[in-house]
Amino acid sequence: MKFLVDAMFGRLARWLRMSGYDTVYDAGLRDGRMIGIARDEGRILISRDRELISRTKAENVPALYVTSLDFTEQLRQMEGEFGVVFQDSPELSRCPVCNAELRLTCKKDIKAKVLESVIEQYDRFWVCSGCEKIYWHGGHWKNVCGTLERLRGAKND
Ligand SMILES: [Zn+2]
Repeated sequence: MKFLVDAMFGRLARWLRMSGYDTVYDAGLRDGRMIGIARDEGRILISRDRELISRTKAENVPALYVTSLDFTEQLRQMEGEFGVVFQDSPELSRCPVCNAELRLTCKKDIKAKVLESVIEQYDRFWVCSGCEKIYWHGGHWKNVCGTLERLRGAKND
């Protein structure tokens, strides 16, 4: 399952990538180009622009109208509509910045790029195969857990 996310949903795009879903997000894309990419690459277009959604559907490309401006609600809608599973491990993730795949890396290879205190504190590090940004559980992922808890907690009520 691959996605193309409209300009106003950058946070959702990052979350989809962090959860391992191949997601195109480029605020510079115009409507026609977005529809073209979604069609050519087999992506589901995610937007809150009704006109764009109906144009997309008219071309037989799957599209989802985002109903809520609340972020947790948006995650819940993605789960409900597509069975998207949001998770908080870099292991299964793509780079939230550039969408490329992450791979495990060795501590000795990242010495120049990551603070020594961080290297001492964590065991595993991942590097983006695209932009070469370094990731670890405690870094980029530290705020993810709270939102996931809200998402799961609210569902169990
Ligand atoms: Zn990257």
